[in-house]
Amino acid sequence: MADGIKEFTVLITDDEKMNVELLGSILSPVYNLLIARNGTRALALAQEHKPDLILLDVLMPDMTGFEVIAKLKESDITNKIPVIFITGLTSTEDEERGFFYGAVDYITKPFHKAIVKARVNTHIKIVDQMRTIERIGLIDPLTKISNRRGFENRLNAEWGKAFRDKTPIGILILDIDKFKVYNDTFGHQQGDAALKDFAQTTANSLLRPVDFPARWGGEEFVVLLPETDAIGAIEVAERIRKNVEASVILTEDQTQTKITASIGANSIVPQTPSPTPDFLEKADQALYKAKESGRNRVVCDGA
Ligand code: GH3
Ligand code: MG
Ligand code: MG
Repeated sequence: MADGIKEFTVLITDDEKMNVELLGSILSPVYNLLIARNGTRALALAQEHKPDLILLDVLMPDMTGFEVIAKLKESDITNKIPVIFITGLTSTEDEERGFFYGAVDYITKPFHKAIVKARVNTHIKIVDQMRTIERIGLIDPLTKISNRRGFENRLNAEWGKAFRDKTPIGILILDIDKFKVYNDTFGHQQGDAALKDFAQTTANSLLRPVDFPARWGGEEFVVLLPETDAIGAIEVAERIRKNVEASVILTEDQTQTKITASIGANSIVPQTPSPTPDFLEKADQALYKAKESGRNRVVCDGA
């Protein structure tokens, strides 16, 4: 947004001309705008231009905003674009439904100019910050979760905290089973799609905000579990393992595929102020045992 150059693009979707004009007058001084007067057009523009943010009306003649967002979330090209609903539907149920579909915000009509502007600015700021984080190299570009460097930063911080508080810290190392065969069967691009799905399933299996998943490299992932003992680590690992096993990954021609993963776990109460290599090594040895004993299972060091 520096020096009058419009850096970000917002797609406005509304079938009513007056709303489009009003939203346009609020946002055009700061953002590039794309305008869609129906859902079909919105989807086409989103695919083609990848806007940074989408404002979406719910009640439109061809398809509802809920149908539009569902389609946006299905596509790898558009599923990360934040969506704000701007709608005349004011019930809590409708609002809840909007968030259920993955909207980042929900504004009801008649809207207040300053509020629309403030909320759009907030979400654009988040987009901008996310890109900065990616740029400085802590996020894995494929799966959008932390990479190994990001993990090491977090490990140092959480380890120090666990050492001071004398609390256990858990670690999981996850490795997709026979992933070479998956790639050989369905192709490398589908392999990438499976990696994304795996990262998402893993992240979604974590219930505490402090639990931290990361891509270690290739088809290996790690999860850091602060304040978690061996029993807790096994429980989280089992939850991930089961969710991965249950998850269906669709190929481009809608073939249903599946993967499984083996998981090595470890938990210790740190005795030194900085991480020691055996923390990860023991989890890695447990992973090796999980592979040896038949894959698609969890093994914990010492358990
Ligand atoms: P195991 O059950 O013993 O872990 O067998 P595996 O085939 O998963 O293990 P191996 O280490 O022999 O092969 C890992 C494969 O993962 C090799 C490569 O084809 C695939 N792989 C690693 N990184 C990527 C990636 O970024 N994208 C894709 N599509 N595949 C990857
Ligand atoms: Mg491997
Ligand atoms: Mg593997």
